[in-house]
Amino acid sequence: MKEKLAIFGGQKAFDEEVVRYNTMGPEEVLAAKQVVQSGVLSQYLGEWDPDFYGGPKVKEFEERWTDHFRVKHSIAVNSCTSGLMVAVGAIGIEPGDEVIVSPWTMAATATSVLVWNAIPVFADIEDETFNLDPVSIEQNITSYTKAIVVTNIFGHAARLNEIMLIARKYNLKVIEDNAQSPNALYHGKYTGTIADIGVFSLNYHKHIHTGEGGVCVTDNDELAERMQLIRNHAEAVVEGKGVSNLVNMIGFNFRMPEMEAAIGIEQLKKLLFFVDEKIELANVLTHGIKDLPGLRVPIVKEKCTHVYYAYPLIVDENKTGVSRDRIYEALLAEGMPALAKRFTVLHLLPMYQKKIAYGSKGFPWTAKFYDGSVSYEKGICPVSESMIDTRYMNIGISLFKFDKQKIQYIINAFKKVWDALHLLK
Ligand SMILES: *Cc1c(COP(=O)(O)O)cnc(C)c1O
Repeated sequence: MKEKLAIFGGQKAFDEEVVRYNTMGPEEVLAAKQVVQSGVLSQYLGEWDPDFYGGPKVKEFEERWTDHFRVKHSIAVNSCTSGLMVAVGAIGIEPGDEVIVSPWTMAATATSVLVWNAIPVFADIEDETFNLDPVSIEQNITSYTKAIVVTNIFGHAARLNEIMLIARKYNLKVIEDNAQSPNALYHGKYTGTIADIGVFSLNYHKHIHTGEGGVCVTDNDELAERMQLIRNHAEAVVEGKGVSNLVNMIGFNFRMPEMEAAIGIEQLKKLLFFVDEKIELANVLTHGIKDLPGLRVPIVKEKCTHVYYAYPLIVDENKTGVSRDRIYEALLAEGMPALAKRFTVLHLLPMYQKKIAYGSKGFPWTAKFYDGSVSYEKGICPVSESMIDTRYMNIGISLFKFDKQKIQYIINAFKKVWDALHLLK
């Protein structure tokens, strides 16, 4: 006889304690302690001075990042959010310019455009990898479009070659939001290093972290300089440094402190290990559930690797005969940890729906400098919307400490629910 589903009062398939993944070890403790003992917790000056570039740990961390990712420049910042703001400012975006972004990403991807008084335009995602669809990008290009911010979501690259070709055709700059995909490969290169600028996150939820932190990378000397300036009080530095291009030289304090940089150095050494561990566990999970009818496991495209920041699934109700929501409830009842079906689809946020950002009068959309007519109506991104409405589920496999045994319990939970789908109708 089949086991009774937990949702009907049966035993849970996953009845284990799970703990948050902790990437910190004695190396990070020692590195942090040494910085504290040195008394120099940050060594920046917001003026043209040798300390404009920060202290020894920040510089060492940037050098190591540069070596690891095989780029020319790395600029450490205090978050990926600030890194994205730095990047959009550096490429010279003007108020009223349109920048194409994905609605299926973290809010900061699009906010980084808005802070420069430019207009985020949401193109739709493709079904396979949840990344921006090049066809939809091209459809959304107008005479105002100046750039694309492309997210490599969940650990897998977007179709970067095609996106770069579109960008070259229309003379657009491209920034990769690579927060979720460190060490992912795309046609032999690391994601985040293919566009004009790539931005990484080091926040607590990411593969490696420094509590809060981020890194911008580029092979372009001028963009690197402009990012360093915006990171650290550009307006007070340009004169001393002899910088004549004043476009977007409004500076911030987006500086990474020394302790975070010292921890980052140790975390970077372990990145490959953490990534490989996630890939190995994801492969076991995929092997266990890939044949369940109506369930689609993550797709890994040719010449790509997936680093599984998340493990996205798609439920096809036509094949299961049971709604995604009902399956989700049944899996939760089985004790499944880290299971989600919600995702913020950005154009549906109140800020975009009501076009209330700066002040109450619709700025920057209503400003004289914006001549375009962007729409954020429900329906503009049907694939993204259908994902949250009825199709998408996700296992946050990077959030918790899983091992092969616990992955097996997850597989058991899925199989148990799938065996009893007819009872869930
Ligand atoms: C985490 C994340 C960010 C923001 O990173 P922070 O370092 O927290 O600012 C941006 N984009 C994506 C896709 C992310 O996952």
